[in-house]
Amino acid sequence: MRIDVITIFPDYLAPLDLSLPGKAQRAGLLEVVVHDLRDWTQDRHRTVDDTPYGGGAGMVMRPEPWGAALDAVCRDDSVVIVPTPSGIPFTQGHAESLSSASHLVFCCGRYEGIDQRVVDEANDRWTVQELSLGDFVLNGGEVAALAMTEAIVRLIPGFMGNPESLSEESHAGEGLLEYPVYTKPSSWRGREVPDVLLSGHHGQIAAWRREEALRRTRERRPDLAP
Ligand code: SAM
Repeated sequence: MRIDVITIFPDYLAPLDLSLPGKAQRAGLLEVVVHDLRDWTQDRHRTVDDTPYGGGAGMVMRPEPWGAALDAVCRDDSVVIVPTPSGIPFTQGHAESLSSASHLVFCCGRYEGIDQRVVDEANDRWTVQELSLGDFVLNGGEVAALAMTEAIVRLIPGFMGNPESLSEESHAGEGLLEYPVYTKPSSWRGREVPDVLLSGHHGQIAAWRREEALRRTRERRPDLAP
């Protein structure tokens, strides 16, 4: 998979060279290229924003540098992802389907966002998804691009050392939240690991975990509970 990220803050994406995404790049499973949007500006001040038509507070990102950037970066197989709080909420389902894409392009907005004509034109030429990280407002799309990239690339076949760890996670399979997890020591500051997990009885452990997953899901996310 190749991922291109277009941003006015390229340094924000440096963590993609760390941890598993960094390892996946070195293993040749993933190629990440981060671009400075200002490289596609034409004026001396490398301007990327202007006042909004119709008035109002804040600035809007001008279409020309975005158009030139997408012309240069996109290919026939590109999926263009525009992080925005007004997008469809990003879910594990999006991460799963995007993990089989060959080319993703993240467009990181700033200020009041990107001139809508950029998104509309991209939509006519490539697949475009306007996705929200959640019901809150960030200052820019970089954190959303980082979070979405991490969720997507960990599902690329061969990315995770132990792919079985993916199947029981929160939001996988049945869509329940994950049960609580414990490790050694079995007793810590007077708090004990539940007996059933020490029993070696696989059937009882599976039943306990499912019950805990259901309990958590009903308590915390009734919208996801069966
Ligand atoms: N005026 C916009 C609105 O009210 O919908 C908010 C713009 S926000 C300050 C600037 C940029 O941050 C957005 O263009 C987008 O790239 C990013 N952003 C902010 N919140 C986000 C979220 N919840 N999910 C994804 N991207 C977000």
